[in-house]
Amino acid sequence: MPDIAQCKICKKPFQSFGGHTCHNCLVDVDAAQIKIRDYLYDNPQKSGIDDICEGTDVSRNIVLYLLKEKRLTVSESSDSAPTCIYCHRPIGNGLMCDECRALISNKLQYAAPKPTKKKSPDDSRRSQLLIDLNR
Ligand SMILES: [Zn+2]
Ligand SMILES: [Zn+2]
Repeated sequence: MPDIAQCKICKKPFQSFGGHTCHNCLVDVDAAQIKIRDYLYDNPQKSGIDDICEGTDVSRNIVLYLLKEKRLTVSESSDSAPTCIYCHRPIGNGLMCDECRALISNKLQYAAPKPTKKKSPDDSRRSQLLIDLNR
């Protein structure tokens, strides 16, 4: 015996065979998912919920349902600017923000081999200490 459940989208009671939506909405949701996928493919910059509702005429209820069921992912904001690969701060372009770029070039300088002279054991211990202090 199927249970009577409330459709998660249109809120009408329906005979549930384990699903969360009535048959009508199920058809709508499947159609909407394809519509949204195509829309996002054509408009990767406009992946906010409002953009999707406007661009596809899909009702907000259905978009939210798809999100909840993890059948759809949207970005929090509609601008999908590139982000720094290290700190994930939005940046204009490139791979990383100025701060991380500076940090990394500093690290590279430290890592670069320094010219080494023959030193007495005492001297090398002293420079080792200096390096420790610099850290
Ligand atoms: Zn329904
Ligand atoms: Zn950064």
